Amino acid sequence: PQNDNIQVFIRDRLFPRSEAKVSVFDSSVQGGDAVWEGLRVYPEGVVCLDKHLTRLHESAKTLAFVDIPSKEFIKDAIKQTLDANGMTDDTHIRLTLTRGEKITSGMDPRLNQNGSCLIVLAEWKILVYDNDHGIKVISTSQRRNSPQFLDSKIHHNNLLNNIIAKIQANVAGKDAGLMLDDRGFVAELNGSNVFMVKDGKVYTPFAHACLPGITRNSVMEMCNKEGIALVEADISLSQFYNGDGVFATGTMGELTPIVEIDGRSIPKNNTLQQRIIKRYEKEVRMLCEKL
Ligand code: PMP
Repeated sequence: PQNDNIQVFIRDRLFPRSEAKVSVFDSSVQGGDAVWEGLRVYPEGVVCLDKHLTRLHESAKTLAFVDIPSKEFIKDAIKQTLDANGMTDDTHIRLTLTRGEKITSGMDPRLNQNGSCLIVLAEWKILVYDNDHGIKVISTSQRRNSPQFLDSKIHHNNLLNNIIAKIQANVAGKDAGLMLDDRGFVAELNGSNVFMVKDGKVYTPFAHACLPGITRNSVMEMCNKEGIALVEADISLSQFYNGDGVFATGTMGELTPIVEIDGRSIPKNNTLQQRIIKRYEKEVRMLCEKL
Protein backbone atom coordinates (compact mmCIF):
# COMPACT_ATOMS: atom_id res chain seq x y z
CA PRO A 1 0.00 0.00 0.00
CA GLN A 2 1.09 3.54 -0.81
CA ASN A 3 0.72 6.75 1.19
CA ASP A 4 0.16 8.87 -1.95
CA ASN A 5 -3.62 8.97 -1.75
CA ILE A 6 -4.28 8.81 1.98
CA GLN A 7 -6.99 10.83 3.74
CA VAL A 8 -5.88 13.00 6.66
CA PHE A 9 -8.15 14.26 9.46
CA ILE A 10 -7.69 17.97 10.27
CA ARG A 11 -9.81 19.77 12.93
CA ASP A 12 -13.21 18.21 12.17
CA ARG A 13 -13.02 16.33 8.87
CA LEU A 14 -10.98 14.33 6.38
CA PHE A 15 -8.98 15.83 3.52
CA PRO A 16 -7.13 14.09 0.66
CA ARG A 17 -3.36 14.23 1.16
CA SER A 18 -2.93 16.97 -1.49
CA GLU A 19 -5.29 19.25 0.47
CA ALA A 20 -4.13 18.26 3.97
CA LYS A 21 -2.66 21.60 5.06
CA VAL A 22 -2.49 23.91 8.07
CA SER A 23 -2.29 27.69 7.93
CA VAL A 24 1.03 29.58 7.97
CA PHE A 25 -0.55 31.28 11.03
CA ASP A 26 -0.73 27.95 12.88
CA SER A 27 1.13 27.89 16.20
CA SER A 28 3.17 24.90 15.06
CA VAL A 29 4.63 26.97 12.19
CA GLN A 30 5.06 30.09 14.32
CA GLY A 31 6.69 28.46 17.35
CA GLY A 32 6.73 24.65 17.24
CA ASP A 33 3.84 25.10 19.64
CA ALA A 34 2.15 21.69 19.50
CA VAL A 35 2.03 18.29 21.21
CA TRP A 36 2.03 14.87 19.57
CA GLU A 37 1.76 11.10 19.89
CA GLY A 38 2.93 8.23 17.69
CA LEU A 39 0.63 5.20 17.77
CA ARG A 40 0.79 1.70 16.30
CA VAL A 41 -2.16 -0.12 14.71
CA TYR A 42 -2.57 -3.92 14.68
CA PRO A 43 -5.64 -5.94 13.66
CA GLU A 44 -6.32 -6.24 17.42
CA GLY A 45 -6.58 -2.44 17.76
CA VAL A 46 -4.36 0.52 18.69
CA VAL A 47 -1.52 -0.20 21.15
CA CYS A 48 -2.12 1.48 24.56
CA LEU A 49 -4.56 3.95 22.98
CA ASP A 50 -5.89 5.34 26.26
CA LYS A 51 -2.38 5.92 27.69
CA HIS A 52 -1.39 7.84 24.54
CA LEU A 53 -4.50 10.02 24.75
CA THR A 54 -3.86 10.69 28.44
CA ARG A 55 -0.26 11.77 27.70
CA LEU A 56 -1.53 14.03 24.89
CA HIS A 57 -4.12 15.60 27.20
CA GLU A 58 -1.62 16.10 30.04
CA SER A 59 0.94 17.66 27.67
CA ALA A 60 -1.71 20.03 26.24
CA LYS A 61 -2.92 21.01 29.72
CA THR A 62 0.65 21.72 30.88
CA LEU A 63 1.04 24.05 27.90
CA ALA A 64 -2.33 25.69 28.71
CA PHE A 65 -3.97 24.84 25.37
CA VAL A 66 -7.65 25.73 25.23
CA ASP A 67 -10.53 23.82 23.64
CA ILE A 68 -8.72 20.48 23.84
CA PRO A 69 -10.73 17.77 22.05
CA SER A 70 -12.06 14.99 24.30
CA LYS A 71 -10.67 11.45 24.18
CA GLU A 72 -13.95 10.34 22.59
CA PHE A 73 -13.64 12.96 19.84
CA ILE A 74 -10.03 11.94 19.12
CA LYS A 75 -10.90 8.22 19.10
CA ASP A 76 -13.70 8.90 16.63
CA ALA A 77 -11.32 10.96 14.45
CA ILE A 78 -8.81 8.06 14.48
CA LYS A 79 -11.56 5.59 13.57
CA GLN A 80 -12.78 7.76 10.69
CA THR A 81 -9.21 8.10 9.39
CA LEU A 82 -8.39 4.38 9.57
CA ASP A 83 -11.74 3.44 8.00
CA ALA A 84 -11.34 5.96 5.16
CA ASN A 85 -7.90 4.52 4.35
CA GLY A 86 -8.80 0.85 4.87
CA MET A 87 -6.02 0.56 7.46
CA THR A 88 -6.09 -2.34 9.92
CA ASP A 89 -2.39 -3.32 10.22
CA ASP A 90 1.15 -2.04 9.48
CA THR A 91 -0.02 1.48 10.25
CA HIS A 92 1.58 4.28 12.23
CA ILE A 93 -0.55 7.20 13.40
CA ARG A 94 1.00 10.59 13.97
CA LEU A 95 -1.43 12.48 16.18
CA THR A 96 -0.71 16.20 16.48
CA LEU A 97 -2.54 18.83 18.49
CA THR A 98 -1.40 22.39 17.76
CA ARG A 99 -2.41 25.44 19.79
CA GLY A 100 -4.27 26.45 16.62
CA GLU A 101 -4.35 29.28 14.13
CA LYS A 102 -3.19 32.73 15.30
CA ILE A 103 -4.89 35.99 14.37
CA THR A 104 -1.47 37.42 13.52
CA SER A 105 2.07 36.00 13.58
CA GLY A 106 3.85 35.88 16.94
CA MET A 107 4.49 33.60 19.90
CA ASP A 108 1.91 34.94 22.37
CA PRO A 109 -0.80 32.29 23.02
CA ARG A 110 -3.33 35.13 23.35
CA LEU A 111 -3.07 35.39 19.55
CA ASN A 112 -4.76 31.96 19.38
CA GLN A 113 -8.45 32.74 19.38
CA ASN A 114 -9.88 29.69 17.62
CA GLY A 115 -8.94 26.81 19.89
CA SER A 116 -6.55 23.96 19.25
CA CYS A 117 -6.18 22.07 15.97
CA LEU A 118 -6.19 18.24 15.82
CA ILE A 119 -4.36 16.39 13.03
CA VAL A 120 -4.66 12.62 12.60
CA LEU A 121 -2.11 11.42 10.05
CA ALA A 122 -2.21 7.65 9.52
CA GLU A 123 0.43 6.15 7.25
CA TRP A 124 1.40 2.69 6.05
CA LYS A 125 4.72 2.04 7.85
CA ILE A 126 6.45 -1.10 9.01
CA LEU A 127 8.45 -1.13 12.26
CA VAL A 128 11.65 0.87 11.78
CA TYR A 129 14.25 -1.31 13.40
CA ASP A 130 15.66 -4.68 12.46
CA ASN A 131 15.41 -6.85 15.56
CA ASP A 132 17.72 -9.47 14.05
CA HIS A 133 20.66 -7.13 13.61
CA GLY A 134 20.11 -4.43 16.22
CA ILE A 135 21.23 -0.81 16.02
CA LYS A 136 24.51 1.05 16.49
CA VAL A 137 24.54 4.32 18.41
CA ILE A 138 26.93 7.07 19.49
CA SER A 139 26.71 9.28 22.55
CA THR A 140 26.15 12.86 21.41
CA SER A 141 27.27 16.21 22.79
CA GLN A 142 23.65 17.37 22.77
CA ARG A 143 22.11 17.05 26.25
CA ARG A 144 18.48 16.02 26.69
CA ASN A 145 16.23 18.62 28.27
CA SER A 146 15.92 18.29 32.02
CA PRO A 147 12.96 19.60 34.05
CA GLN A 148 15.01 22.74 34.86
CA PHE A 149 14.78 23.79 31.21
CA LEU A 150 11.81 22.03 29.66
CA ASP A 151 9.93 19.23 31.38
CA SER A 152 10.65 15.96 29.56
CA LYS A 153 7.15 14.77 30.45
CA ILE A 154 5.62 17.18 27.92
CA HIS A 155 5.50 15.36 24.58
CA HIS A 156 5.92 18.54 22.52
CA ASN A 157 7.00 19.36 18.98
CA ASN A 158 10.13 21.28 20.02
CA LEU A 159 12.22 18.38 18.80
CA LEU A 160 15.37 20.36 18.02
CA ASN A 161 17.59 18.85 20.69
CA ASN A 162 16.64 15.36 19.52
CA ILE A 163 17.12 16.39 15.88
CA ILE A 164 20.63 17.74 16.60
CA ALA A 165 21.46 14.43 18.32
CA LYS A 166 20.15 12.53 15.27
CA ILE A 167 22.28 14.70 12.95
CA GLN A 168 25.38 13.84 15.02
CA ALA A 169 24.51 10.14 14.67
CA ASN A 170 24.00 10.57 10.91
CA VAL A 171 27.39 12.28 10.53
CA ALA A 172 28.99 9.38 12.42
CA GLY A 173 27.17 6.86 10.20
CA LYS A 174 25.25 5.35 13.14
CA ASP A 175 21.54 4.62 13.61
CA ALA A 176 20.69 6.85 16.59
CA GLY A 177 22.13 9.38 19.02
CA LEU A 178 22.37 8.54 22.72
CA MET A 179 21.63 11.62 24.82
CA LEU A 180 22.90 12.24 28.34
CA ASP A 181 21.09 14.36 30.92
CA ASP A 182 22.43 17.63 32.34
CA ARG A 183 24.43 15.66 34.96
CA GLY A 184 26.05 13.31 32.45
CA PHE A 185 23.92 10.22 33.10
CA VAL A 186 22.30 8.34 30.22
CA ALA A 187 18.85 9.76 29.35
CA GLU A 188 17.56 8.20 26.13
CA LEU A 189 18.12 7.86 22.39
CA ASN A 190 16.98 10.74 20.19
CA GLY A 191 13.62 8.99 19.63
CA SER A 192 13.37 6.07 22.04
CA ASN A 193 14.02 5.00 25.63
CA VAL A 194 16.86 2.73 26.75
CA PHE A 195 17.26 -0.28 29.05
CA MET A 196 20.31 -2.25 30.21
CA VAL A 197 20.53 -5.87 31.40
CA LYS A 198 23.29 -6.57 33.93
CA ASP A 199 23.80 -9.58 36.21
CA GLY A 200 20.21 -10.76 35.86
CA LYS A 201 18.63 -7.36 36.56
CA VAL A 202 17.10 -4.82 34.20
CA TYR A 203 17.95 -1.11 34.55
CA THR A 204 16.47 1.98 32.95
CA PRO A 205 17.17 5.69 33.59
CA PHE A 206 14.79 7.65 35.81
CA ALA A 207 12.24 9.56 33.71
CA HIS A 208 13.61 12.99 34.80
CA ALA A 209 15.33 13.64 31.51
CA CYS A 210 13.68 11.16 29.19
CA LEU A 211 10.18 10.92 27.84
CA PRO A 212 8.18 8.57 30.09
CA GLY A 213 7.68 6.32 27.07
CA ILE A 214 4.59 4.14 26.88
CA THR A 215 6.63 1.21 25.58
CA ARG A 216 9.08 1.83 28.47
CA ASN A 217 6.14 1.65 30.87
CA SER A 218 4.82 -1.57 29.30
CA VAL A 219 8.27 -3.20 29.58
CA MET A 220 8.54 -2.15 33.23
CA GLU A 221 5.09 -3.58 34.00
CA MET A 222 5.90 -6.76 32.09
CA CYS A 223 9.13 -7.25 34.09
CA ASN A 224 7.22 -6.77 37.35
CA LYS A 225 4.60 -9.33 36.25
CA GLU A 226 7.27 -11.83 35.21
CA GLY A 227 9.23 -11.43 38.47
CA ILE A 228 12.23 -9.86 36.68
CA ALA A 229 14.09 -7.35 38.87
CA LEU A 230 13.60 -3.89 37.34
CA VAL A 231 15.46 -0.86 38.68
CA GLU A 232 15.18 2.84 37.71
CA ALA A 233 18.60 4.35 38.28
CA ASP A 234 21.21 6.94 37.32
CA ILE A 235 23.29 5.00 34.81
CA SER A 236 26.64 6.18 33.47
CA LEU A 237 27.99 5.64 29.97
CA SER A 238 30.63 3.29 31.36
CA GLN A 239 27.88 1.12 32.86
CA PHE A 240 26.09 1.08 29.50
CA TYR A 241 29.30 0.07 27.63
CA ASN A 242 29.60 -2.86 30.03
CA GLY A 243 25.98 -4.02 29.99
CA ASP A 244 25.30 -7.72 29.36
CA GLY A 245 22.67 -6.41 26.95
CA VAL A 246 21.26 -3.00 26.04
CA PHE A 247 18.04 -2.28 24.16
CA ALA A 248 15.87 0.60 22.97
CA THR A 249 12.08 0.89 23.37
CA GLY A 250 9.52 2.96 21.47
CA THR A 251 6.31 2.70 19.48
CA MET A 252 8.05 2.86 16.08
CA GLY A 253 10.72 0.24 16.77
CA GLU A 254 9.21 -1.62 19.76
CA LEU A 255 12.15 -3.44 21.43
CA THR A 256 15.44 -3.24 19.55
CA PRO A 257 18.84 -4.52 20.67
CA ILE A 258 21.63 -1.93 20.76
CA VAL A 259 24.73 -3.76 19.52
CA GLU A 260 27.28 -0.94 19.58
CA ILE A 261 27.79 2.22 21.66
CA ASP A 262 30.68 4.58 20.73
CA GLY A 263 32.49 1.72 18.95
CA ARG A 264 32.23 -0.67 21.94
CA SER A 265 30.28 -3.78 20.98
CA ILE A 266 27.46 -4.92 23.25
CA PRO A 267 26.40 -8.60 23.38
CA LYS A 268 23.15 -9.18 21.49
CA ASN A 269 22.15 -12.63 22.63
CA ASN A 270 21.76 -12.18 26.38
CA THR A 271 19.16 -14.74 27.47
CA LEU A 272 17.19 -12.39 29.71
CA GLN A 273 17.12 -9.68 27.04
CA GLN A 274 15.95 -12.19 24.41
CA ARG A 275 13.22 -13.37 26.80
CA ILE A 276 11.97 -9.80 27.33
CA ILE A 277 11.99 -9.04 23.59
CA LYS A 278 10.12 -12.27 22.70
CA ARG A 279 7.63 -11.73 25.54
CA TYR A 280 6.87 -8.17 24.39
CA GLU A 281 6.16 -9.37 20.82
CA LYS A 282 3.24 -11.36 22.29
CA GLU A 283 2.31 -8.79 24.94
CA VAL A 284 1.91 -5.94 22.42
CA ARG A 285 -1.13 -7.65 20.86
CA MET A 286 -2.75 -7.84 24.28
CA LEU A 287 -2.13 -4.13 24.87
CA CYS A 288 -4.28 -3.21 21.84
CA GLU A 289 -7.56 -1.34 22.30
CA LYS A 290 -10.41 -1.48 19.81
CA LEU A 291 -11.82 1.83 18.57
N1 PMP B 1 11.74 9.22 23.63
C1 PMP B 1 11.46 10.14 22.68
C2 PMP B 1 12.26 11.40 22.64
C3 PMP B 1 10.42 9.91 21.76
O1 PMP B 1 10.12 10.83 20.84
C4 PMP B 1 9.70 8.69 21.82
C5 PMP B 1 8.60 8.40 20.82
N2 PMP B 1 7.42 9.08 21.11
C6 PMP B 1 10.03 7.76 22.83
C7 PMP B 1 11.06 8.06 23.71
C8 PMP B 1 9.29 6.46 22.96
O2 PMP B 1 8.03 6.67 23.52
P1 PMP B 1 6.82 5.65 23.29
O3 PMP B 1 7.24 4.33 23.84
O4 PMP B 1 5.69 6.26 24.04
O5 PMP B 1 6.60 5.58 21.82
